[in-house]
Amino acid sequence: MYKIIDGKIVSKKIREEIQQKTSALYKDKSVKLKLATILVGNDPASKIYIKNKINACSEAGIESEHIDLPATTPESELLGIIDKLNGEVEIDGILVQLPLPSHISADKVTDKISPDKDVDGFHPYNQGRLLAAKDYDSLIKSGIPIPCTPYGCLKLLEYYNIDISGKRVAILGRSNIVGKPLSLLFLLKNATVTICHSKTKDAKEIIREADIVVCATGKRGLLNGDMVKEGVVLLDVGINRGEDGKIYGDADFESVKEKASFITPVPGGVGPMTITMLLYNTLTLGLKRRGIINI
Ligand code: NDP
Repeated sequence: MYKIIDGKIVSKKIREEIQQKTSALYKDKSVKLKLATILVGNDPASKIYIKNKINACSEAGIESEHIDLPATTPESELLGIIDKLNGEVEIDGILVQLPLPSHISADKVTDKISPDKDVDGFHPYNQGRLLAAKDYDSLIKSGIPIPCTPYGCLKLLEYYNIDISGKRVAILGRSNIVGKPLSLLFLLKNATVTICHSKTKDAKEIIREADIVVCATGKRGLLNGDMVKEGVVLLDVGINRGEDGKIYGDADFESVKEKASFITPVPGGVGPMTITMLLYNTLTLGLKRRGIINI
């Protein structure tokens, strides 16, 4: 019988812990943490994501400063705004909502955000620190911001006491924001990791051998119950909108659950964890940069 990995429950617990820390910070030191968010253009989905992030910040006791820019904003202007925010002492984190209009390089924007305000954990310096980490615990203690979705996946497994060490993990998807950093976290947790992507030839055999499968492709119906082994743990990161307007994962939940020991629903699994870990990164970076914790 499978168990649901409930991202809403885990998120609530972590967000409450963050809220307690921010209110103590305000009480003891009159410090209010602040996240700067930037949205370029009018993409409706991005607007919803930003609104959800700002609301989550507010509930967790983190202030926000939002900057809306027209889609025609020159790249140089956006880079200048980030530069200014880098220098503002009261700003603890900077988030530029992706995707950006095609005339703006996401890489240049990512590189511009100061690594100590990089709440998404996308800056090459922070990615390098993740790559160079020797063990999971010292990585966490170092306060390096870890990309939010992969970090959220690990937090879910931690909450449900799911053993990772020595396990075979198959990750479907190799993006810089999900698949690749997630593979490094699993490696630090002593798993044996295989990443599959669109050119992988023997993905079915790799998936069948895996104790833990993570889908992060954005391809609905990629995985079904016939492809996984009995007792598999499935984390479904995928977000796909069906013709009925509902959100679906990459995996066929109904067939995979028959064989799974643990499984995330979509929505309500990995999704809520992404914003939660954004709050966590904002808190950690704020405390570190302000010298309140010494790491
Ligand atoms: P990308 O489009 O950047 O990457 C998708 C990856 O999937 C690529 O590496 C691609 O391979 C791989 N892929 C495509 N087809 C297959 C296949 N048949 N078998 C194995 N791998 C395949 O997406 P993201 O990583 O940004 O996001 C992935 C999904 O997760 C999306 O649905 C996105 O919406 C969702 N997401 C959800 C979040 C959440 O909070 N729950 C947060 C972030 C993303 P290749 O490199 O060869 O092209």
